Amino acid sequence: MQQEAIHEFKSQLRGELIGPADASYETERKVYNGMINRKPRLIAKCADVADVMTAIHFARKHGVRASIRSGGHNAGGLGICDDCLVIDLSRMKFVHVDPATRKVRVGGGCTWGDVDHALHAFGLAVPSGIISTTGVGGLTLGGGMGHLTRKYGLTIDNLLSADVVLADGSFVVASAEQNPDLFWAIRGGGGNFGVVTSFLFQAHPVQMVIAGPMLWNLDQAAEIMKWYREFIVHAPEELNGFFAFLTVPPAPPFPENLHFKKMCGIVWCCTGAQDQANRLLEPLRKLHPPAFEFFAPMPFPMVQSMFDGLYPPGLQWYWKADFVKELSDEAIALHVKHGSELPTLHSTMHLYPINGAAHRPKSTDTPWNYRDANWSEVIVGVDPNPANKNHITQWARNYWEALHPYGAGGAYVNFMMDDEGSERIRATYGSNYDRLTTIKAKYDPNNFFSVNQNIRPAGAA
Ligand SMILES: Cc1cc2nc3c(=O)[nH]c(=O)nc-3n(C[C@H](O)[C@H](O)[C@H](O)COP(=O)(O)OP(=O)(O)OC[C@H]3O[C@@H](n4cnc5c(N)ncnc54)[C@H](O)[C@@H]3O)c2cc1C
Repeated sequence: MQQEAIHEFKSQLRGELIGPADASYETERKVYNGMINRKPRLIAKCADVADVMTAIHFARKHGVRASIRSGGHNAGGLGICDDCLVIDLSRMKFVHVDPATRKVRVGGGCTWGDVDHALHAFGLAVPSGIISTTGVGGLTLGGGMGHLTRKYGLTIDNLLSADVVLADGSFVVASAEQNPDLFWAIRGGGGNFGVVTSFLFQAHPVQMVIAGPMLWNLDQAAEIMKWYREFIVHAPEELNGFFAFLTVPPAPPFPENLHFKKMCGIVWCCTGAQDQANRLLEPLRKLHPPAFEFFAPMPFPMVQSMFDGLYPPGLQWYWKADFVKELSDEAIALHVKHGSELPTLHSTMHLYPINGAAHRPKSTDTPWNYRDANWSEVIVGVDPNPANKNHITQWARNYWEALHPYGAGGAYVNFMMDDEGSERIRATYGSNYDRLTTIKAKYDPNNFFSVNQNIRPAGAA
């Protein structure tokens, strides 16, 4: 590519353009997953919508592939690619709260920590995930599940509209009234349809929650899972709880005698009163007294950032996932076998409940096809040491292969690496897949946005 073209591009940006010769290039090309080592040709740190349009025009004119990066958390590293232009939104951070309507406008480069912080001052929250450093962009466009799912649904169920720059560089609004087909597609179809420069969400009154983990010894794991599978499907929606196999971190609040011990647990988050939370969990405490619990009133942003310190950027990540409708006794036995063999301190397995309010929309209301699944399962191999890459990967694959026959078919797109293949994506969207390909053909006929869990335009070779 001609240097003049790059100079011209740079001069048109209000933000920054970074290339391999720049001092910040090595830092800027990193993403959250330390396993990803890609070398883009250019990184455009866009300052505003105009910069995003300019970046798209430049990439198209010069035939350069483009990726979209918001929080950089995608485990498959889909915010970045080799020899491409990264459209980086991390400078586009703003959160405007309207307390009267409880609506919040969020810049495309925000993390959930930015949103939680701004909303908490008004006693409000939007359902998101469980780690505050995750980007709003990727999490929302894939679906979004976390501590508030059972009460307020998936993140996409709370999206009211989005500002989008399309593959031809034009700007549109996607909402129920404007470009409703595009609005449908971006609520689960990922970054396939355009660059979302801002999101408008409906927030909800959430300020203090009763939250935290309860832990049990592994020899009780099967009975806890059996109790949990019945309980969480029928529990009041105020109560959310995800099941986990984990190794106890060597830090407060965990007592020293449990440090480094492999255990199972449930991480609760209750938006109801403390009395209600205790009343709901008293039978569990009596039947299966936890070896340890840290279940207490806390500000919502505190539970949202509870695991941030344990999972800093730069660790090696490999994960595999499935949606799950039922947890049979055989599946539980396999979970206990593989969950007991966690390969490293950070590795884990989570079963996130996606029932309650997330079951209310129909499977065709958004691309999220599995409205009848009860859990989103993710098997996560994590370690700081790159030498353990194969070890954590193999463990996750073996665990997943054993459990996959008990899954519902597809998996959460945001819990996939970049090695899953198109059949897995098709299985995830199920009967919504064809509609997605038709909308893709309308808004991105040449598959310009292809660095993602790709939905190919209908009719494309
Ligand atoms: C530690 C950790 C915890 C997680 N916890 C949860 C959780 O609790 N719940 C949950 O639902 N998910 C969770 N995830 C998964 C998370 O939703 C995905 O990794 C998601 O892709 C991250 O979004 P991002 O913006 O940070 O990613 P990026 O890497 O920046 O982007 C990923 C992809 O998203 C698309 N994209 C991002 N922003 C935009 C935009 N503004 N416009 C268009 N396309 C865009 C692009 O296709 C891009 O390739 C977690 C991930 C990690 C690593």
